[in-house]
Amino acid sequence: MIVRRDEMRASKAMQHRVLNTPNIEVLWNTTTKEILGEKTVDGVMVTNTKTGEDRRLDVTWFFVAIGHTPNSDIFKPFINMDEAGYILAVPGSSKTNVEGVFAAGDVADKYYRQAVTAAGSGCMAALDAERYLAAKGH
Ligand SMILES: Cc1cc2nc3c(=O)[nH]c(=O)nc-3n(C[C@H](O)[C@H](O)[C@H](O)COP(=O)(O)OP(=O)(O)OC[C@H]3O[C@@H](n4cnc5c(N)ncnc54)[C@H](O)[C@@H]3O)c2cc1C
Repeated sequence: MIVRRDEMRASKAMQHRVLNTPNIEVLWNTTTKEILGEKTVDGVMVTNTKTGEDRRLDVTWFFVAIGHTPNSDIFKPFINMDEAGYILAVPGSSKTNVEGVFAAGDVADKYYRQAVTAAGSGCMAALDAERYLAAKGH
């Protein structure tokens, strides 16, 4: 597991699980420089950010799990969002500033970002959309 810094941001419980799993080696202060291989992965070049030293890891799989940037750019011209790009819905509903457009899931939730909260807000948005269409006589 490649970690950029000398600490993780994950919850203590998740960190504990990783650090106590014998077949996970944590490479602290390390960044990925290059993924090697033509059609499949046959190695990864990593750099130690403290020493600047590069090193090849002979791995055949590479999983990326980074970032929490909402993919909301295409809506920016139309829909109100905060400075980080999270869509602002009317509290307690999925309504946005645009009539008939409803927001749900992680893109509208900077606090919880969990599958179950996303699914719940998806249900809210579906009901809001259905009621909106019904009120329009559709
Ligand atoms: C590593 C990791 C571990 C997690 N573990 C847990 C966990 O244990 N328990 C838990 O409850 N939650 C967990 N989550 C959070 C959970 O995955 C999210 O809260 C949930 O997936 C949010 O659902 P969503 O539908 O809002 O967004 P997403 O699941 O991100 O779905 C958004 C979809 O929109 C698509 N999309 C984006 N842009 C466009 C576009 N322009 N046009 C068309 N489609 C587009 C994307 O491809 C994607 O399919 C985890 C998340 C991560 C990253």
